[in-house]
Amino acid sequence: MYAQVVVNRPTRRRLPLGAEPVRGDRSWLAIYTYRLPPSLTRGARPGHLVQVPLRTSTALGVIIELTASPPADLPPETDIRDVADILDPLPVVTPTQMRLARWLAEAYLASLSQAMRLMLPPGLAERTFVVVSPTASPPSEPLSPDEEAALRLLDGQGRRMRLSVLLGRLSAEDPEAVIHSLADRGLVEARYALVPPKPAPPRVQYARLLADDEAIEAALPHLGRPSKGADVLQVLARHGGELLSLAEVCELAECGEQVVRSLARRGWLTITRRRTLVTALPGAKTADLSGAPKQAALLSALLACGAPVEQRQLLTETGVSSSTLRSLEGKGLVHRIIEEPTVLPTLGPSQLLERALEMRGAQKQRRVLEVLRGSHGPVWVGGLYAQTGADLAALRDLADLGLISLHAEEYERPRPTVAETALALTPDQEAIWRTIEAGLGAGEGREPFVGLLHGVTGSGKTEIYLRAVQAVLEAGRRAIVLVPEISLTAQTIRRFEARFPGRVAVSHSQLSLGQRYAAWERVRRGEADVVLGPRSALFAPVSRLGLVVLDEAHDDSYKQSEPIPLPAYDAREAAIALGRLTGATVLLGSATPDVVSFYRAQQGRYRLLQLPQRIVPSARGRAFRPTSPPLPPVRIVDLRQELRAGNRSLFSRALQAALRRTLEAGEQAILFLNRRGAATFVLCRDCGYVVRCPRCDVPLTYHLTAADGQRDKLVCHHCNYQQDAPRRCPECGGPHIRYFGLGTERVEAAVHQLLPQARLLRWDRDTARGVDHERFLQAFIDHRADVLIGTQMIAKGLDLPLVTLVGVISADTALYLPDYRAAERTFQLLTQVAGRAGRSQRGGQVIIQTYNPDHYAIQAAARHDFTGFYRKEIALRRQLGYPPFGRLVALRFSSRDRRRCRVEAERLGQWLQAEIQRLGLRASLIGPAPCFFSRVQGRYRWQIVVRAADPLALLGDLLLPPGWRVDVDPVSLL
Ligand code: ADP
Ligand code: ZN
Repeated sequence: MYAQVVVNRPTRRRLPLGAEPVRGDRSWLAIYTYRLPPSLTRGARPGHLVQVPLRTSTALGVIIELTASPPADLPPETDIRDVADILDPLPVVTPTQMRLARWLAEAYLASLSQAMRLMLPPGLAERTFVVVSPTASPPSEPLSPDEEAALRLLDGQGRRMRLSVLLGRLSAEDPEAVIHSLADRGLVEARYALVPPKPAPPRVQYARLLADDEAIEAALPHLGRPSKGADVLQVLARHGGELLSLAEVCELAECGEQVVRSLARRGWLTITRRRTLVTALPGAKTADLSGAPKQAALLSALLACGAPVEQRQLLTETGVSSSTLRSLEGKGLVHRIIEEPTVLPTLGPSQLLERALEMRGAQKQRRVLEVLRGSHGPVWVGGLYAQTGADLAALRDLADLGLISLHAEEYERPRPTVAETALALTPDQEAIWRTIEAGLGAGEGREPFVGLLHGVTGSGKTEIYLRAVQAVLEAGRRAIVLVPEISLTAQTIRRFEARFPGRVAVSHSQLSLGQRYAAWERVRRGEADVVLGPRSALFAPVSRLGLVVLDEAHDDSYKQSEPIPLPAYDAREAAIALGRLTGATVLLGSATPDVVSFYRAQQGRYRLLQLPQRIVPSARGRAFRPTSPPLPPVRIVDLRQELRAGNRSLFSRALQAALRRTLEAGEQAILFLNRRGAATFVLCRDCGYVVRCPRCDVPLTYHLTAADGQRDKLVCHHCNYQQDAPRRCPECGGPHIRYFGLGTERVEAAVHQLLPQARLLRWDRDTARGVDHERFLQAFIDHRADVLIGTQMIAKGLDLPLVTLVGVISADTALYLPDYRAAERTFQLLTQVAGRAGRSQRGGQVIIQTYNPDHYAIQAAARHDFTGFYRKEIALRRQLGYPPFGRLVALRFSSRDRRRCRVEAERLGQWLQAEIQRLGLRASLIGPAPCFFSRVQGRYRWQIVVRAADPLALLGDLLLPPGWRVDVDPVSLL
């Protein structure tokens, strides 16, 4: 018996660096032939996970076929080795999955091994251990002391040890060499062993106060970043009542005078002038000065005052000269005192400390300590962020100072046990449902029924999914439901679990590895009939598949992109391929379908199913169609006009006023910021002109790091066109030409300035790293904050009934990314963000700020007009040969060496160009050019984009030199 095995190792042939691409390469298909020893023959089946020898070591692999004799094309002299072990008694990959892997490898130019890896159970790497055990064979030559020690250890441990543990216990110089030498002589053998992980619940972070009040007081001066100004304020606070001279303050705070003077300019303290005072000494009388009338006059004026007088004032008022004063001093009648500059705080000690904290940027940390002091026991970090505006880095600092501790606790949600009944469908839903029902079960190998379900958020799409799943289950088949990771919230999960209790397997990144494995195992054993998860859930080992649903199908996260390993698959296309293999129906649902899918629906390749209206459930639970569409009104604010009116703040007057009104009414607001492409494109704030590439018409991007000694450059990331950065707008000549971009932190600061009372919740990578997104949102839903400031992440997700205002800080950042899908993405984002407002009786409004109020994507989003957007966009795509009218493949090269990137990219570009000519293909290249994200994690990136009706005709069987990555049908060219 022979087994054809796909090994879980890079198997693709590697060309030498700088080699020419090679055609006709078949190494992507690498399948190895092994013999099954008699002990394994009986149990072996395709799909089994096996351990096999590979070159000089061992590897894991999956049996894809069993044959009675070796394949005919195997060279007869091949040394066929034995399968070493079957690691899991059940197959880990289904026959359908093997075919899907083959499809993925071909479609996305990956190796079969890479595609198969998608199908392997979660955490295989973490669960497999190499176990070492001694063999029965006696040593043929004397052992070294280290080798003897190793064998003794194994004997003492029941003759089996994990390799990593064994290596740790050996005291030899090079423990690995010891084991290798034993293995080479056949004295020990190493095998893979699979350990099922424990399904521990996921963990969420909590903070707990460690310090007492005294320790907190002591720590306050050390919070935040170093600041000399803060040191000065603290010195003043500490020395409460004392008068300190400027010199003393400088000495105590170890700073220069200018630091203190800058604090004086902020009005927090005053510094007295240096001055000379004059006072009469006790017993001085004018009578002794009869011969010196000027001296007498001076002295009598002094005596009349009865207190020290400033020298300058005294001299001007009496009109005598300083020499007269010196004579009096010489006679011991008056005394001069020189007064050094003195620092007088204008604030009380507690206010001084407050300002010091601000200067250190540590008020948030102080607030964290206060909140923790006021609450007993640990506090969930998401809630802390909401109340204090602190972020994870701030909490880590506090932990480093030993003031708080951070720890994770397990958290598991309750599960429903009784099935909820399905809702009666509305007439709109009913019509759609009949079409889907007729399409269910098309049969294997045929073009599957693909429905594009187009309906705004809240139009009842999920109810349709639930209905379809139910029908499929009733027919004894199973379903996979995909949602973008970010919208895999408790609400979504609950809806499916409530309808199908005990039959849903959920997988997402918040689960522990053990939990994900447990879910996978339930699916494999057929104990769960519905798989709910992100993109990767498509590869769950589901048998008898009847339905695949992709919710929010336009979402970019359905496309696997760099830097995640190949294949860079698109879950939408893979779902349809899976539908073809299994006969399953595919439903793509979206409020803003992607242009390509919508085009296919127009062409009749997909069935277009539309739900035009939101459903507003009535009090008695019976759905009715609203008479007027309750989509919120959208107002576009022209930022150029704001500028003309002298408003340079981040917020237009309209947005400022709306924010105020919203908070006064006790309602909530969301401020949305598109983070991608911050600080990049070049825009004139007077006229809205954006500098574009004369060759590609995409916006040029700004590069600080131009060649030495030259002006900053603008670069086209499609074709590498370059020009100097202009100082004035080429269109209107105005001086306000800027590279444009801003971050959530700046927005937060601006809101704080505008509305100091408002409680702000900033949601971005800094605050939400490692936090359960859903609970973060919950803090907002619970009204623990008034304004949510965030990026893409907040565009999706839950019902937020108190949100009546959504402000888009700048609609332009997404619009001017040098990417053919920029307009599409902008439209999608704006539409989604706008959908967040006014989902309750309170109504709501949306304000979109832009420098390009006339752009079709923005206009259409403001009208909630998908069709209008689509018409315009599809016409442009047709003109430029972009998808769906041509396909794109992005070839990206990355290297730490900037020059090598350029050289390699240009070399391959030329080679491809020649090849297109030689083969007479209808294809064109965009680039080579540096990628928009031209440097990622220290590596420079260049790309070539192939645009053709069938790019695989050029690239299908091509083996590229090392360093190149292929992204077929990329969702972004950045
Ligand atoms: P979508 O998935 O398009 O956002 P949902 O399916 O979540 O829309 O529906 C929006 C709201 O309307 C939900 O609260 C849902 O329970 C309710 N709903 C949907 N269909 C019906 C129906 N046929 N009868 C009553 N309520 C419905
Ligand atoms: Zn260009």
